[in-house]
Amino acid sequence: MLASEIHDPAAAAFANTATVVCYQTLAADYPTNVLSLVTLNTGSGHFDNANPFQTVQAFKQKALSLGIRFVENNLFVSLEKQGGFWRIKSARCNIEAPVLVNCAGAWGDQIAAMLGDPVPLEAQALMLIITDRLKPFVKPVVSVQGRSLSFKQFYNGTVLIGGAFRGWAEPEYNRTHLDPRGLAANAANAAVVFPAIRGARIMRCWAGIVGRMADDIPVIGASTAEGAFHAFGFSAHGFALSPIVGRIIADLVTKGTTNLPIDAFSVERFSITASSRLQVAILRFL
Ligand SMILES: Cc1cc2nc3c(=O)[nH]c(=O)nc-3n(C[C@H](O)[C@H](O)[C@H](O)COP(=O)(O)OP(=O)(O)OC[C@H]3O[C@@H](n4cnc5c(N)ncnc54)[C@H](O)[C@@H]3O)c2cc1C
Repeated sequence: MLASEIHDPAAAAFANTATVVCYQTLAADYPTNVLSLVTLNTGSGHFDNANPFQTVQAFKQKALSLGIRFVENNLFVSLEKQGGFWRIKSARCNIEAPVLVNCAGAWGDQIAAMLGDPVPLEAQALMLIITDRLKPFVKPVVSVQGRSLSFKQFYNGTVLIGGAFRGWAEPEYNRTHLDPRGLAANAANAAVVFPAIRGARIMRCWAGIVGRMADDIPVIGASTAEGAFHAFGFSAHGFALSPIVGRIIADLVTKGTTNLPIDAFSVERFSITASSRLQVAILRFL
């Protein structure tokens, strides 16, 4: 499927970095019990899945080697613009910079509001299950159509089961709580698709906080405040999109433009008019 054939902008952006393989291709190699199945890989032509922790560390090491300075565990409190510079007050130090990028994830709406760009974002807690080690039985990262399930088996045999089942998020404390009923439904879905996991033991479960926009499309592009840019609200798809979003933001910051069509991701789609308020309310209701 070509990205240009997809009319949803978020899906089109995703399709640029992923390959969709039909059920028949997968079923030839992997016995499953469902008829509607797609599997995704991240463009390398192989079915390897990227480990988020290792991937982020690799990007960080590269940035450090290029002289980038990281200030971590440092709560950003307030900002103001003076003489062409953003002056940012944070818990551990004050920072001055000509350009500011708001990539605060599920908290991106707070920074956006400080910049005069109010947006409808909900912090959600997505849950995951990890099983004990099983014999290798599936190589691709699998996502199932019509059933809430994403699935991957690691090289050590453990299986990761996700599917957008939600716990409860407390973004103000960066804390999540699990919902056992959702986890049970998630595990049951997985066992229907892959009988090989029946009887597997669940070793651990956890949830992480993601920022979901009311229309499920991230905010990527310039702020209405000069010298500021947004890249947040990835609505549970930010890891796969991060390389291309990094490229877009780098181009916007250094060249003032990007050759990719990002209008659909503009923060201004939420500019507060009566009609957009109604639109957001309808999207939330749906
Ligand atoms: C269980 C689970 C499974 C997922 N599976 C997938 C998947 O298969 N594929 C995929 O593409 N995506 C997946 N995601 C989503 C993906 O992890 C997110 O979309 C991505 O991490 C968002 O990245 P981000 O940089 O925008 O936000 P984050 O990773 O949340 O980073 C934002 C950072 O900003 C910091 N911050 C916020 N406010 C402040 C402040 N005031 N001061 C200082 N720092 C601040 C936060 O502490 C945080 O470190 C999954 C998420 C979860 C939880």
